[in-house]
Amino acid sequence: QDQAQLIDGKAIAETIRGEIRDEVARLKEESGGRFEPGLAVVLVGERKDSQTYVRSKKKGCEEAGIKSFGTDLPETATEEEVLAVVREYNADPRVHGILVQLPLPSHMDEEKILMAISIEKDVDGFHPENIGKLAMRGRDPDFVCCTPKGSVELLERSNIPIAGKSAVVVGRSNIVGTPAAMLLQRRNATVTVVHSRTPNPEKYIREADIVIAACGVANFVRGDWLKPGCAVIDVGINAVDDPTKKRGYRLVGDVCFEEAVKVAGQITPVPGGVGPMTIAMLLQNTLEGAKKAYEQGK
Ligand code: NDP
Repeated sequence: QDQAQLIDGKAIAETIRGEIRDEVARLKEESGGRFEPGLAVVLVGERKDSQTYVRSKKKGCEEAGIKSFGTDLPETATEEEVLAVVREYNADPRVHGILVQLPLPSHMDEEKILMAISIEKDVDGFHPENIGKLAMRGRDPDFVCCTPKGSVELLERSNIPIAGKSAVVVGRSNIVGTPAAMLLQRRNATVTVVHSRTPNPEKYIREADIVIAACGVANFVRGDWLKPGCAVIDVGINAVDDPTKKRGYRLVGDVCFEEAVKVAGQITPVPGGVGPMTIAMLLQNTLEGAKKAYEQGK
């Protein structure tokens, strides 16, 4: 084999979005039109990238038949104002998922605001209680963070075995690396986490059947660090200068794709790998939350 098989995140995400759309339609019909999943998105400030993410999340909802609610607050809003919006959505039975777009302006305590989201509506899975439950044996979180969940879903939908395999996660952030490691461990992989204080990360990566790279360093993982035939999930999104592009930059992952594609068995491209999965998982989490509320209300 000369080249790794590409894991087409865009196509897999599209399939999942279709499944969600069908399930939403089925539930609407079953409930005689009374049941409609709802997602509330809170945006504070005018960051262009955040506005783009929020727009595509709302568009994803619309396509899936999920009602989206939105509150946009100015950069100058107070923490108390954001908390008030969150509390309102907590109490609103039409809303099954609440997402506060990060990063928040620096004068706000991010953790305090995330903690205020009702755990049954924490579709981003960032509440410490959800992350804690993810780490515990015999417990299940209400929601799992979207990007790591999407990364593992890519492995599963590509029929890549996880149980009994050795996996390395590069990065230990609360929202990607750490939950990715916990998810793999729950699926019975033997997991090593490497980070910025790990000397010679390649020593561990060379042994890995599965590599999830989430360190935010362009082209960090090199081709000759990989075990031949391994599966590579590249979470990284890094802009690097490229004068041949109209925008002046292009996006690359945390893995040097050109090298890795010659060694790995399967690999995700950037863009078109993990990225599209994140929104698909957000919609899936919203649907799951809505279904629980629906079952309870029956
Ligand atoms: P963070 O910056 O929060 O965390 C990066 C992690 O990588 C840290 O644990 C850090 O170690 C580690 N790290 C940094 N430099 C190195 C290094 N040289 N060697 C080994 N480890 C290193 O980033 P995120 O987790 O939020 O995101 C990671 C990447 O994923 C980014 O490229 C981001 O853009 C992308 N991303 C993509 C998403 C998607 O939808 N596809 C969603 C979210 C993020 P330490 O803990 O020691 O500081």
